[in-house]
Amino acid sequence: MTITSKKTHTNFQRQKLAPHLNGSEVRASEHFVQFYEKDIFLLDSLSAFVSTGLAAGDVCIVIATKAHREGLEELLKARGVDLAAAHTRGEYLSLDAAETLSKFMVDGLPEPERFAEVVGSVLMRAAKSRHHVRIFGDMVALLWTEGNQAAAIYLEELWNDLHHKTYPFSLFCAYSMHSFDGEAHEVPFTEICKQHSQVIPDESYTALTSLDERLRTITLLQQKANSLEAEVAERKRAEERLRISENRYRRLFEESKDGILMVDPRTGKITDANPAMTELLGCTHEQLLAQELWQTGLFQDREATLEALRELQEKQYLRYATLPLHTKDGRCREVEFVSTLYQVDGYTVIQCNIHDITERRQAEEEHSRLAALVESSNDGIVGKTLDGIITSWNQAAERLFGYSASEAVGKPITIIIPPTLYQEEEDIIGKLRQGIRIQHYETVRLRKDGTLIEVSLSISPLKDSMGKVIGAAKIARDISERKELDRRKDEFISMASHELKTPITALKGFTQLLHRRFKSRGDEESLHFLARIDTQLNKLTKLISDLLDISKMQVGKLEYCMEVFDLDVLAQEIVESVQGTTQTHRLLLEKTAGIRILGDRDRIGQVLINLLTNAIKYSPDADRVIMQVAIDGENALVSVQDFGIGIAKAYQEKIFERFYQVSESEEKTYPGLGIGLYIVRQIIKRHQGHLWVQSRKGGGSIFSFSVPLVHE
Ligand code: ADP
Repeated sequence: MTITSKKTHTNFQRQKLAPHLNGSEVRASEHFVQFYEKDIFLLDSLSAFVSTGLAAGDVCIVIATKAHREGLEELLKARGVDLAAAHTRGEYLSLDAAETLSKFMVDGLPEPERFAEVVGSVLMRAAKSRHHVRIFGDMVALLWTEGNQAAAIYLEELWNDLHHKTYPFSLFCAYSMHSFDGEAHEVPFTEICKQHSQVIPDESYTALTSLDERLRTITLLQQKANSLEAEVAERKRAEERLRISENRYRRLFEESKDGILMVDPRTGKITDANPAMTELLGCTHEQLLAQELWQTGLFQDREATLEALRELQEKQYLRYATLPLHTKDGRCREVEFVSTLYQVDGYTVIQCNIHDITERRQAEEEHSRLAALVESSNDGIVGKTLDGIITSWNQAAERLFGYSASEAVGKPITIIIPPTLYQEEEDIIGKLRQGIRIQHYETVRLRKDGTLIEVSLSISPLKDSMGKVIGAAKIARDISERKELDRRKDEFISMASHELKTPITALKGFTQLLHRRFKSRGDEESLHFLARIDTQLNKLTKLISDLLDISKMQVGKLEYCMEVFDLDVLAQEIVESVQGTTQTHRLLLEKTAGIRILGDRDRIGQVLINLLTNAIKYSPDADRVIMQVAIDGENALVSVQDFGIGIAKAYQEKIFERFYQVSESEEKTYPGLGIGLYIVRQIIKRHQGHLWVQSRKGGGSIFSFSVPLVHE
């Protein structure tokens, strides 16, 4: 501490000394505290306290820091006090605060017994002379400035204790006002004040002499305190806002799906990284913080990184649309890299945002592969909304329908639908709405030049991410060539069967002639061979008439002669007739009498024959076939059951198609053209009936049909 000139001190003392510190006013039991802003003020007060004490014959004990003791002695000398004499008389005692403290402090707190012993004995010695004792103690203030506030308050309590128990003395404590700066000190400050019987404000107040001056100062202080309080409250709110905003940004940082790296531009070192970044790079936060940017795998090497950083310094912003990233755990990702340079609290920082675009790129590649596939397809591929607006149109669609993509997209799909088929389109949309796929649907479409084209359509519903149908993808295949071929084939079949029918009819005529001759001659052997020729001719006739039927059905020219007849009677006749052609199987008929239906008796007969002959043909190892004719509600129900090779599930629909035969390589082949069941289905359809099969491979089959009954 520096003590200024003697003149100043005396002036200061005269003006600013607190009046009640004059020795006469200090009461015997007083334990007062003096707050001060500057040491010089304290020392002035203290020197007045000591000098007036000595003048009144009191014993003065000063337990203070070295600086305070020296400063005090200098001022006392200036006041003309003979300290050496006072010391010799035992009236002035000066002790070092830290040294005295060390004698009774245990584990950071004053130990009461030791305190009583150390301080109490000094006091008792001084009191022996029966003089009044004045003590100045710096120890509490010392503990306070060291930050040991609890010990300071406890020591104040011990002083108060000592006050009550021993000889009364007046005790002067002093605290620098600066030790209480900050709101947090409000409570301990109050506590300190409580420990004292008298509190003396610091010089800014104490130095004022007139009451009016003091009142004005108090008012000013109150105003200052209020505005400070308001300012503190505002600052707290601002801090809270800042904290909330920082938290928010921290959360954004922590939860961002993009990897974020903070880099120190001077060192190139990573200063922070969010969890998405550590996950992307395949290493821990700690591992990352020890690295420089170039070590993350984002750049090829240190040189490339430095180059990038130079560019960033120049432009403040850097973006690479794609960068390959080889992660620490061996993955290879593609990322978008965006880096910005900005100032935070006067420091330049680099923020790198890394967005993993691997999946997006893969999806894009997949999309372009698909687009290429769609474009190169030979089938027309058309996308449309559920309102029938065309959304996409590939090159094959351009060739097929004659409209270019730019002409078709955005137009209604009806531009390629003949007006007579609008209803068909509505039915298709209805099915799509229910999520139903339409496969190989054969129909006719309209070309731009007004001609019609035969197409096979496969249409799938298009759904959004929620599974809602929003449109359809249509694959249209040109089948006009195939249809033309089919027509020519049908024509050929029809012509060939007609041509074959004539010689067969002639042959039939000749066999009948021969039959009569051999019979009249009694030539049994020739009759036997003739019968075999006849059987083969019958087979041939059936094949030819089946072929003829098929070609007639194709063009809708098969004629039906409708009449009401007894189905059970017909079944009986057919069973008997087919039984005549087989020696291997017994045909069993279970029937209900009087089942009348309206139909073509011959065609229904043809159906029964086909089902029975198939049952015999496809059960070579069995010896019986069961036919049932019964009533089922409003229908007549006929079933033919065999115990033969059966049909695997996969073929059970296909066998009703034209020319279809089940031919699995390991199976033995059966003669036939694959048209019998097709004819059967067409005939049953014409009778408003249904035909179906229940079968299992190796487990026999039951073919059934139902046709409506006729009520008389
Ligand atoms: P085809 O018998 O002349 O080949 P069909 O149209 O009558 O022609 O029958 C089609 C196919 O259905 C046959 O080739 C055969 O594979 C299968 N099939 C028909 N009936 C039976 C049956 N009862 N048991 C097993 N397979 C049968």
